[in-house]
Amino acid sequence: MIIDLRSDTVTKPTPGMMQAIMHAEVGDDVYKEDPSVNALEHKMATLFGKEAALFFPTGSMTNQTAIKLHTQPGEQLICDKWAHVYNYEGGGVSFNSGVSCKLVDGHRGMITAQQIEENINPPDFYHSPLTTLVCLENTTNKGGGACYDLKEIKKIRTVCTKNNLGLHLDGARIFNALVAKGESPKQYGALFDTISICLSKGLGTPLGSVLVGNANIMKNAIRVRKVLGGGMRQVGYMAAAGLYALENHIERLADDHKRAKEIGDVLKRQAYVKEVEPVETNIVIFYLQPEENENKFIQKLATKNIRISSMGQGKLRIVTHLDYTSEMHERFLEVLKIT
Ligand SMILES: *Cc1c(COP(=O)(O)O)cnc(C)c1O
Repeated sequence: MIIDLRSDTVTKPTPGMMQAIMHAEVGDDVYKEDPSVNALEHKMATLFGKEAALFFPTGSMTNQTAIKLHTQPGEQLICDKWAHVYNYEGGGVSFNSGVSCKLVDGHRGMITAQQIEENINPPDFYHSPLTTLVCLENTTNKGGGACYDLKEIKKIRTVCTKNNLGLHLDGARIFNALVAKGESPKQYGALFDTISICLSKGLGTPLGSVLVGNANIMKNAIRVRKVLGGGMRQVGYMAAAGLYALENHIERLADDHKRAKEIGDVLKRQAYVKEVEPVETNIVIFYLQPEENENKFIQKLATKNIRISSMGQGKLRIVTHLDYTSEMHERFLEVLKIT
């Protein structure tokens, strides 16, 4: 038994999802003739109360497309210093859009309306880049699965509207946030211009992300996706997996959250652990005591067929998911207590 807690992307399709994939009706999506893709896009747009949606192979491509849709070369976006769009998309912000990032020193990957306001370059001061976009992340990845307070997002919306800035959400794990906070997709749809949603994280599909937004901003999305090489053919097999996940894999995210919390609670009581960050969703970030060696710790777990990952700066990360069973959970908690 291998217990892989490096990421919620390591899951494989469940038998039910496999059935949905095998029975999918497909067509050539580049001609927009794939009924499963069309159904998924329609469903996601409706769910978030937006006019349009487009299916992509990866979350990075959805974020990069959104950034391209909101900006012109030379402009600047505002995001947290830990943002995925800045740290983990291969420098795509500058490569694809010719845009720079103003990094904000947020709390657990989250930034405030006030911080955003302070970081907007005055639009008539032509020496500095024109600020045109704000990117938020919810839940935050490097911030340990932390969730925004909706009240803060409302304030951020007001700042963006007042200053003529686009507002994009990297919602790779938005359903984790919705389940944890008891909020609805429409509440988020009403606040953001564009939202990128991953199907391949907690929802457990082999691939796929969806970008939602209103028709005016989304009309060029298909062109940008083409430029980035993201036009796919009979990809309805994967859209069918996405539709299945929306029906079957959302409510169960609460189980992932519960197990992550239990892991956090056990870790807190171990002498070798210095600190555990608050666990809000399916990510646990913790730090070892200074005398412990991080690599050795990971290696020691690996010899017991348990995989976790390091995020640098002493951060160790555990992510619970669909393929992490109760049997694995019991075993893992035991190992943590005797390690
Ligand atoms: C995983 C992830 C993405 C998308 O990553 P891909 O691997 O390109 O699908 C985007 N944002 C966050 C916060 C993520 O965790």
